[in-house]
Amino acid sequence: MEDKRLYSPKYVKEILERYGFKFSKSLGQNFLIDGNIVRKIVDEGDITSEDYIIEIGPGMGTLTEELALRAKKVVAIEIDDTLLPILDETLGKYDNVEIIHGDVLKIDIEKLIEEKLSGGPVKVVANLPYYVTTPIIAKLIEDNLNLQSIIVMVQKEVAERMEAGPGGKEYGSLSVFVNFYSKPEIVVKVPKTVFMPQPKIDSAVIKLEIKKELPDVDKDKFFKIVKAAFSKRRKTILNSLSTYGFNIEKETIKEALEKLNINVNTRAENLSVEDFIKISKTLPPLDI
Ligand code: SAM
Repeated sequence: MEDKRLYSPKYVKEILERYGFKFSKSLGQNFLIDGNIVRKIVDEGDITSEDYIIEIGPGMGTLTEELALRAKKVVAIEIDDTLLPILDETLGKYDNVEIIHGDVLKIDIEKLIEEKLSGGPVKVVANLPYYVTTPIIAKLIEDNLNLQSIIVMVQKEVAERMEAGPGGKEYGSLSVFVNFYSKPEIVVKVPKTVFMPQPKIDSAVIKLEIKKELPDVDKDKFFKIVKAAFSKRRKTILNSLSTYGFNIEKETIKEALEKLNINVNTRAENLSVEDFIKISKTLPPLDI
């Protein structure tokens, strides 16, 4: 089928060679060449003709094309200017696609949603460049944007850390951060063979359903406590919090934990998001 040429490694090679395109490792360029995975990502996003989409890093437009066929409008942000003429060729026929040349970390996403996507709500869909996965996710979910969900391909280990709950070795501050703002779910694990060039690591697609209402807590204090708690994973929660420099007496922290029925000898990896919320509400103001 004409529209699906971008799934064919032969066609991908042909077009990239014609433009003299060279893959950049430092920009995390591993392009999808498997139609089943592209469709799976878009299916899991429940993309309908009403949806406004932001794609990060369209590459040569493989995922973008599938999104364009299903969504109302797609704005795709690409940092690499050598891909712009290629995108022009692969996506030029879709009038619901707009390519923005820039670094997603520097772009004012709120303004972009306001000006180009009717104010949202917006779904973010991407095969992310792995070298900046966490800053991108942090920017998107922290910024109080009008986002409905984020469906992204990331390194498998990162997806597992984002999805993890208390009790396992994957659970850490990234898990608490992601679970504070969203409901994460790994939707599919992906072999290296679906990419060109093939990366060294395995990947997974994770869906983050953004929470409409966030827990009622001082976020700044909450995340400082989470950071302190996980800064020394092997220490007890009492020791991590009392030696971090919050300038709160150990005895005060002990009393607060006991009042909350939290064992002072437990470690951060066994505390849930709700436990951290209760701790931040109970401790006195922090001195940093
Ligand atoms: N979406 C394409 C696909 O699935 O075949 C390409 C995915 S590739 C893993 C990541 C893409 O993100 C590349 O096109 C790369 O140039 C782009 N990129 C890397 N860093 C970026 C940044 N800071 N802002 C926007 N795009 C970026």
